[in-house]
Amino acid sequence: MLRLDTIQQAPKALLHDHLDGGLRPATIVDLAAEYGYDGLPTTDPEALAAHIRRGADRKSLELYLETFAHTVGVMQERDAIVRVAAECAEDLAADGVAYAEVRYAPELSTERGMTLDEVVAANLEGFKVGAERAASTGHPIVMKMLVTAMRQAARSVEVAECAVRWRDAGVVGFDVAGPEKGYPPTRYLDAFEYIRRENFHITIHAGESFGLPSIWEALQFAGAERLGHGVRIVDDISVRDDGSVELGRLATFVRDRRVPLEMCPTSNVHTGAAASVADHPIDLLRRLRFRVTVNTDNRLMSGVSMSSEFAALDEAFGIGLGEMEWLTINALKSAFAPFDERLRLINEVVKPGYAHLRSDETRVVGAR
Ligand SMILES: [Zn+2]
Repeated sequence: MLRLDTIQQAPKALLHDHLDGGLRPATIVDLAAEYGYDGLPTTDPEALAAHIRRGADRKSLELYLETFAHTVGVMQERDAIVRVAAECAEDLAADGVAYAEVRYAPELSTERGMTLDEVVAANLEGFKVGAERAASTGHPIVMKMLVTAMRQAARSVEVAECAVRWRDAGVVGFDVAGPEKGYPPTRYLDAFEYIRRENFHITIHAGESFGLPSIWEALQFAGAERLGHGVRIVDDISVRDDGSVELGRLATFVRDRRVPLEMCPTSNVHTGAAASVADHPIDLLRRLRFRVTVNTDNRLMSGVSMSSEFAALDEAFGIGLGEMEWLTINALKSAFAPFDERLRLINEVVKPGYAHLRSDETRVVGAR
């Protein structure tokens, strides 16, 4: 089994992480006091973290989403967002993440009068500050932002236009998130068509709590380049008693076209999309060589990091360094950053990083 410090040192790439799902508990407490948010159940950071995690682990996407009231509640001022985003970059970098696309729905931070653009500007400013601090401690990280529109709101076109306005300042794509049931991707076609006409990028939360139709609509109507979760694609795959496998038309399309699946194993266990990490469809999908990537989703709510997710996968499936590198390269091949930047990370950071860790492993074995 891989050692946790080896996993932490290994360069990692993250495509699916929510800014409002990764706050440090102590920061929530600080910001609540500073900006007068009085909705916290406790001001003890550890008890608060436990409360939020209990709230998230109720096997329902709708209940899971309720726990965001406390994080979004303290993200209503520019300086609060800058701090949260800076700490996000620092925490990811300290965990060995070399490239991250972190998403946020700016409409969630407009309660006290901030505009969508002000929210995005604060978020990007925080990433810059955090990445600079991380680099100065020897943990360089490339931080990009995805701008999310919430399904329940009717602002998707406005949010899509905002995303495109910031494309040269660190925003690399557009996403739609929130409860899936009753909000199919086809409700937001105007926004997706706008993004496509601008030659910009789309990923959509689909096939998490809802089945194949949401994946089909996301890909074939909305033009999603990646799927947020996409777990339910397994509903289109039959495994027979003799171990042979048959893919339906949609699963075949997803695999043939190398559609990236932004999989978040522990989060899926918490929302009820999978019974346990060991039972997670990621095992079947990686063995069938779908374009699988590993992600955190919400580090605070699910109590995870990139390293803990890889450790859980190694424990369940014995993935080892070889597959960890494959999953990381999958993520960089699927990232929305420009091609030359992704190539640089693969060739100058990921490949040498894993080669170095493997040579370390060989030395340990040889010394016995
Ligand atoms: Zn998500």
